[in-house]
Amino acid sequence: MILTSHRVLAVGAHTDDVELGCGGTLSRLRQAGAELHVHALSRAEASLPVGASADTLEREFHASMALLQPASATVHRLPVRNFPQHRQDILETLVAVKRSLQPDLVLTHASTDTHQDHRVVHEECVRAFRGITILGFEIPWNQSHSTTNAHVQLREEDLELKERMLAQYASQQQLGRGYTGASYIHSAAVFRGHQARLDLAEAFEVISLVWKASSHGQG
Ligand SMILES: [Zn+2]
Repeated sequence: MILTSHRVLAVGAHTDDVELGCGGTLSRLRQAGAELHVHALSRAEASLPVGASADTLEREFHASMALLQPASATVHRLPVRNFPQHRQDILETLVAVKRSLQPDLVLTHASTDTHQDHRVVHEECVRAFRGITILGFEIPWNQSHSTTNAHVQLREEDLELKERMLAQYASQQQLGRGYTGASYIHSAAVFRGHQARLDLAEAFEVISLVWKASSHGQG
């Protein structure tokens, strides 16, 4: 059902969230013929090594997206760690995206994410995308516990693409953030795969499931 989605919107608070949360699934969706749209709401200037230029993460994001080749990839300019003060701007941005894209599947942060920016994006996506299937992806080190209950099998090439996308984020590796490394990404896919009797998988929280009888995205 997920893989018959026609137009897919992935929304992350920051650059690299989408790749970490659902990069392999996006690879499978693209291979299945879905039209992909990726939005990062902040380029996270405050999460950079000393001396790095302010657009570093934006450039790394676009290098990552050049590998995925979505129909569109957009970086907004919300201030990192201050999303709670910009809740209405975020909602209005998401509503505008909904109107222009009319996605039939939305992938965004899960409900159990404790990062303040991730929480706001989750909550505003639930408000903005009523009537649309929403799956929550996990960023494990930010989550108090896991509520994942859906698994998407990854092929070796999906995982390899995910690893290559995250390898574009040299600034985060410079900061010692090991979650962009291939070892961590592979281990997480094996762990989630075992839960569903699969070799490799990404796991999601079903936030909203809308199974339409007709129009694009059926099934
Ligand atoms: Zn983030």
